[in-house]
Amino acid sequence: MTRALLCDLDDTLFDHTASTRAALAVVRASTPAFQAWSPDEFDRRHRVVLEALHLEVLAGRWTVEAARVERFRQLLGAAGVDESRAGTLDDLSWGYRRAYEAAWRLVPGAVDLVAAVKAAGWSLVIVTNNVVREQRLKIERGGLAPYVDALVTSEEFGASKPDPRIIRHAIDRVGGSPEHAVVFGDSLSTDIAGGRAAGVRTVWFNRWRVESPDPELAEVHTLEPAADVIRTLGGD
Ligand SMILES: [Mg+2]
Repeated sequence: MTRALLCDLDDTLFDHTASTRAALAVVRASTPAFQAWSPDEFDRRHRVVLEALHLEVLAGRWTVEAARVERFRQLLGAAGVDESRAGTLDDLSWGYRRAYEAAWRLVPGAVDLVAAVKAAGWSLVIVTNNVVREQRLKIERGGLAPYVDALVTSEEFGASKPDPRIIRHAIDRVGGSPEHAVVFGDSLSTDIAGGRAAGVRTVWFNRWRVESPDPELAEVHTLEPAADVIRTLGGD
């Protein structure tokens, strides 16, 4: 049976954290209200609002664009700005988006890793809690597309990690089996919990080397060198 890697995208292969920080630096430079916060504080507050609104997007209650505008409305409010001037929020939101896309980058080693995974004969499925259009763009622009056998998004499937159904669906997409699959991702609450719920081996991408809650959980700290990561993924 062919092995299948069920790989997360955001902050596993795609460097959402770095791309976001770069975009926030651009927004902060042009928006005095945000300069009351340090870059770290702005990033922290932005992440809290983003994660809350992302759940609304996944639930289909907000479009990506409307959620982005709302995000900056909330952040301006938190910065003490009563933002009612039409256009300003749109400008901020699109300014962020342009800077974010311009800053898009992969986690170092991502392309080499997926190329090596394919060269080793594995199937590769991207399993991601996000919208399909956005994730397809990241995969294509990042140069990952030639190595991806299937893209499974929560938007298209209708359930999000850690729901085990999306993991099983991803395995089915490449004709794999749970015993020969491995879930790899940065999130304990979605990737690792979802893999475990589906009875699939899991490997945690603990990039920031935080303390592990579970000494039994296999982890890697970097995607480089690919051969070492693949050894851990395979449990060899
Ligand atoms: Mg992730």
